[in-house]
Amino acid sequence: MPRKLAAGNWKMHGDGAALAEIDALMAAHPSPGVGILVCPPATLIHRMATRIGGGPIAVGGQTCHPAAQGAHTGDISAAMLAEAGASHVIVGHSERRADHGETDAQVRAQAEAALAAGLSVIVCVGETEAERDADVTLEVVGGQLAGSVPDDARGATVTIAYEPVWAIGTGRVPTPAQIAEVHTAIRAHLADRFGLAGADMAILYGGSVKPGNAAEIFAVPNVDGALVGGASLKAADFSAIIAAL
Ligand code: PGA
Repeated sequence: MPRKLAAGNWKMHGDGAALAEIDALMAAHPSPGVGILVCPPATLIHRMATRIGGGPIAVGGQTCHPAAQGAHTGDISAAMLAEAGASHVIVGHSERRADHGETDAQVRAQAEAALAAGLSVIVCVGETEAERDADVTLEVVGGQLAGSVPDDARGATVTIAYEPVWAIGTGRVPTPAQIAEVHTAIRAHLADRFGLAGADMAILYGGSVKPGNAAEIFAVPNVDGALVGGASLKAADFSAIIAAL
């Protein structure tokens, strides 16, 4: 998959009828020059992957459990996601960190399990509004990277998504300079820790990416794509974002 990536996170949205959006997306991008990934609810992964067949859109999960199997009611393992047709999984999304109390160590264990199962991983990091106001954004993001990203990360299999919590679902977006500052710091962390592989990892921006602001965000240095929530639910919107990449 190309380094540039447009990833859609459907969160807890979408039913069988919503699979029509995937048909429209495939029709609009028969041979995209960028990676396209859609992460639907787990219930739709197999149907979506089957619908796409050998098509140009990858399917991913939204989280996974660190264990391969076991007594973990309601959870799903990385290998199960892979068997259902996923090639990717998001870990450490701020909604998981907040709703389920996931810690950096747990996110790292999830990422390690995903890599072991052959999945590519998108590790999410980002500061809260209080942390930005307190001027500790780079420390917070640096700590999350150090704690959540596995030590054996490889360039093509690990992607970082910078998602300021205050920008998710709010319509508020950092300025290009604010995005550039954090993405440059993330790139430096990755290059420092992983050398050439770190220089190769994609860094996505996420948080209120829309057709109207995508081009400006994609022009920021070290922005290799986007993790898109609300605007990934409708093919027309997501398609316009893909076209801007
Ligand atoms: P949003 O969500 O695009 O709806 O702000 C982004 C995300 O949470 O990944």
